[in-house]
Amino acid sequence: MVTAENLYKILYARYGTTGWWPADSPDEVIVGTILTQNTSWTNVEKAIQSLKEGGPVSLKRICSMSTEDLEVAVRSSGFYRQKAARLKDLACAILRKYGSVEAMAMEAYDETSNFLKNIKGVGQETLDSILLYALGQPVFVVDKYTTRIFQRTGIMDRPDLKSIKSAVHLFLDGDTEALKNFHGMIVYLGKDYCRTRPLCRDCPVNKVCAYAVSNADQSAQ
Ligand code: SF4
Repeated sequence: MVTAENLYKILYARYGTTGWWPADSPDEVIVGTILTQNTSWTNVEKAIQSLKEGGPVSLKRICSMSTEDLEVAVRSSGFYRQKAARLKDLACAILRKYGSVEAMAMEAYDETSNFLKNIKGVGQETLDSILLYALGQPVFVVDKYTTRIFQRTGIMDRPDLKSIKSAVHLFLDGDTEALKNFHGMIVYLGKDYCRTRPLCRDCPVNKVCAYAVSNADQSAQ
């Protein structure tokens, strides 16, 4: 039976160090966590690029931009009115309470986690992404790719947030850089192979994946 640790090792052999999350600063990470909701990363990149036309992406600049200008800048990420409003709320709330992302990163995990989860638009995946990639807290980010891959490979029958996190923290607990990279590798696997219609033939996990093995058995009969 394949485990989360097996998956990590196979993915590391295939992808190595991914450098995920792709951003120039912790501020840009936070902006990206809102923009990526319900859209592809390609659309996020376009929106970030558009924001960069006005200078480096910072919470200070986002907070001081007019809602209209922000909507125009993030339009390519979809749901742009909602995202512009959420971005501005989040940026201004962080600056009001902490003054900067760096200062927020000095606070205790429970304090920042409770603060962030009470801000509109910060769901579990967004919260964990900010905690891990912007604040350097050792938490694992679970997204739709993670759930799909853990289920298809057979690591778990019914993966949920709690069980996935427990399985990953069993072998990567406290290792912030490895936790960052594991999520990055899962994003790549999901984009490259484990799509809605999976491309198992060339997938690096196919020899141990329950879905791929059972489909190969069926086609051999
Ligand atoms: S072998 Fe297929 S089902 Fe399994 S992880 Fe790869 S793409 Fe997904």
